[in-house]
Amino acid sequence: MNFKPGKKVVLEKLADYPLMPASLADMTHNFTGSWRNMRPVIDYDKCINCGTCWKFCPEPAIYIEDNKVNVNYYFCKGCGICVSECPKKCITFEEEGK
Ligand code: SF4
Ligand code: SF4
Repeated sequence: MNFKPGKKVVLEKLADYPLMPASLADMTHNFTGSWRNMRPVIDYDKCINCGTCWKFCPEPAIYIEDNKVNVNYYFCKGCGICVSECPKKCITFEEEGK
């Protein structure tokens, strides 16, 4: 699959799926959210629903529901990859507990 930031992700075959979510399917009991000290927060006013954050999240902690990306904080370990990769810079890091 040729992935271009800002373009909508289309999943037609297994090879289109991100490698990490596919390979870690049996790790869903591993609640890596307990590692996190920073949490990503999505600004939906700026989000263009491109799927880049979902594509790059190594956990997988980002899921799509009702055509919107969401963060599952049970699995988000706060690595910041989604913050770096978002083409619209609409994911910010907030300190946990604030
Ligand atoms: S901070 Fe890391 S683990 Fe959490 S949603 Fe973003 S990419 Fe995924
Ligand atoms: S949060 Fe950013 S990377 Fe994720 S879908 Fe929205 S615009 Fe794309």
